[in-house]
Amino acid sequence: MITSKPVCVTGASGFIAAYIVRDLLLEGYRVRGTVRKSADHYPFLLNLPGASDRLELVKADLMQERAYDLAVEGCDYVIHTASPYEINVKNPQEDLVDPAVEGTESVLKSCMKSGSVKRVVFTSSIAAITDEPESSKVFTEKDWNTMSSLERHPYQYSKTLAERAAWDFIMQKKPPFDLVVINPFMVVGPSLSPQLNTTNRIIRDIMTGVYPGIMDINWGFVDVRDVAKAHILAITTSSASGRYLCSGEAMHMRDLVALLKSSGFGNYALPKLDLSGKAGTLLMKLLSFTQPKDTGTYIRTNVGRTFRYDNAKIKRELGLSFMDVKESIIEAVKDMEKWGHLTPPKR
Ligand code: NAP
Repeated sequence: MITSKPVCVTGASGFIAAYIVRDLLLEGYRVRGTVRKSADHYPFLLNLPGASDRLELVKADLMQERAYDLAVEGCDYVIHTASPYEINVKNPQEDLVDPAVEGTESVLKSCMKSGSVKRVVFTSSIAAITDEPESSKVFTEKDWNTMSSLERHPYQYSKTLAERAAWDFIMQKKPPFDLVVINPFMVVGPSLSPQLNTTNRIIRDIMTGVYPGIMDINWGFVDVRDVAKAHILAITTSSASGRYLCSGEAMHMRDLVALLKSSGFGNYALPKLDLSGKAGTLLMKLLSFTQPKDTGTYIRTNVGRTFRYDNAKIKRELGLSFMDVKESIIEAVKDMEKWGHLTPPKR
């Protein structure tokens, strides 16, 4: 049954959250979204169907104490998506870890204070499950990333610490609400906002000559609309519990490049050189030292390995079915062209 109380969505301006807001409004919910600037900066939210009557935008920053008290007041459900998603930052502690961890604690404290919140849905990441694939292992919700640090994969570290902080809060404070966590892999698809998301940017980089060749690397992709759906199912499915690894099929870089080529994007600067063999992997590991620090670490811990994971729990317990990620990738590319993030090369 749809609650008449607003659902709070933190970081409403984000790539994923904008779809959560859109879908909640479409389903008839009242939504209170938190943002960092004044409401007039977000026409893509204000113009959503149902927004004029049922969307309220309130300001809140993860680094401000008690910033979420008003935002969660009177809500049954809070969907906490806000967290910095950036790679190659200057100061990993201040730019990533502090807002992710302190912000999560701040949101949970406000939920506790509200006395109304029944469930918090937290957007974690595959990053909190692992920061490197192991070809012989199938990752599940039982796995935790124990290897990241401020030096190694600081974004993945921030997500791991933030999710840990959320579970610790539940264990220690025993609040009157439960926690359900969504752990998406690489989220792709069209964007409701003009902002270029970090994951779509990786596809753009592949199309604009940033990578010297096709590496032996694979990713799990999931459509942004499926990730939004997962969050809403996490509030509507009363039996939902624990973590949910959220990803469609995995795709090798070779297949991704072939897909782009066969879908009419062959005149972009797609990588041609096949570096997916053993010698290529070795070369890529050496070349990774010429890349920005976090990109370099990413290449060294991912090339030459196959990511395997099990997405059965989210399908079984939340009833989520995944879109064909090939379609999401093609839609993401067309959308990046539409927003001007990608300029089609002249033939
Ligand atoms: P995004 O578009 O960059 O959105 C991040 C959101 O967090 C924005 O609304 C941003 O607000 C907000 N935010 C950042 N720092 C903040 C601060 N100090 N105070 C308040 N708000 C702050 O990223 P996204 O891809 O939608 O990511 C949303 C969530 O999903 C994140 O928790 C991310 O870790 C997680 N995730 C993403 C992916 C993916 O592939 N995209 C995969 C797994 C998990 P501004 O608009 O004001 O900057």
